[in-house]
Amino acid sequence: MNKLGIVVPCYNEEEVLGMTSEALRAVLDDLISKGKIASDSFIMFVNDGSKDRTWELIEEQHRLYKDKCIGIKLARNVGHQYALTAGLLTAKDMCDVTISIDADLQDDVATIEDMIDKYYEGCQIVYGVRKERKTDSFFKRTTAQGFYKLMAAMGVKTVYNHADYRLMSKRALEEFAKYSEYNLFLRGMVPLIGFKTDCVYYDRKERAAGESKYPLKKMLALAFDGISSFSTKPITMILSIGFFIIFLSIIAAVYALVSYGMGRVVPGWTSLILSLWFLGGLQLLAIGLVGQYIGKIYSEVKRRPRYAIEKILEQGDDVK
Ligand code: UDP
Ligand code: MG
Repeated sequence: MNKLGIVVPCYNEEEVLGMTSEALRAVLDDLISKGKIASDSFIMFVNDGSKDRTWELIEEQHRLYKDKCIGIKLARNVGHQYALTAGLLTAKDMCDVTISIDADLQDDVATIEDMIDKYYEGCQIVYGVRKERKTDSFFKRTTAQGFYKLMAAMGVKTVYNHADYRLMSKRALEEFAKYSEYNLFLRGMVPLIGFKTDCVYYDRKERAAGESKYPLKKMLALAFDGISSFSTKPITMILSIGFFIIFLSIIAAVYALVSYGMGRVVPGWTSLILSLWFLGGLQLLAIGLVGQYIGKIYSEVKRRPRYAIEKILEQGDDVK
């Protein structure tokens, strides 16, 4: 029987923590009674430097349900992606499979069972994908969907309408742990790992209590992190614009020289207009070119693993 660890990042979640713990404990009990997970499976709350009573409540849950509820206290607020990573990498050594879920019960906890079923079918990663976003405000919905589309346009591979509700096996986490980059954008990193993956679909609900801990500023920062950590497309765009302007400057040169030949110009105009176009294009081209090298250095310093081996067939192995 495989041991499950549910990882829950919590930042100022005193209003929902009790409810969340109850809902997740009910799911664990149900899955244990169905014989799908080990009886020592647990919920791990990660306190991300909350300023309210979140940590006291986590301590209380641990007091009441010692085996089921455990907690990690981060020394300060580091943000959702980092808190989640801290939880996942700690849980990796304590169980066989993890599921990460937000503290606010927006993600349907009933889907956990579907994720576990997929895991037993051999999936190392299972993404929770929202069917629709009826409960999100118009603003949240359009900005979030615009974000997924922008990411796709920038060449960052993410799973559409999937946030950080996902199952990851110990094996997938061991590969993930090799990604030593500082800037974390889990939705971009996890698909890089590989292995057999699948999606489960659910309806996203409203926050059970409290308010969103992701104001516009944090969302924009996440979007920028996502693009800048995964794509050098913006630099390539500058390079292309540079080429395009040089091309335009050739047309401008022909035009200016013809005008000059016809004597229709103010003295000095031809040389001025030619250098203006040409130098502008040249500068953009040069910046773009330098940028290409910086892009390369960037991907080198991240030291991402280049591959993950899934299986090796050795000499003398019987293949079934
Ligand atoms: N969160 C966190 N650290 C932060 C901000 C948020 O750990 O600095 C957690 C938060 O407690 C929640 C999850 O990240 O469990 C997602 O946040 P939220 O539900 O507020 O985001 P939304 O669903 O509104 O996008
Ligand atoms: Mg939420």
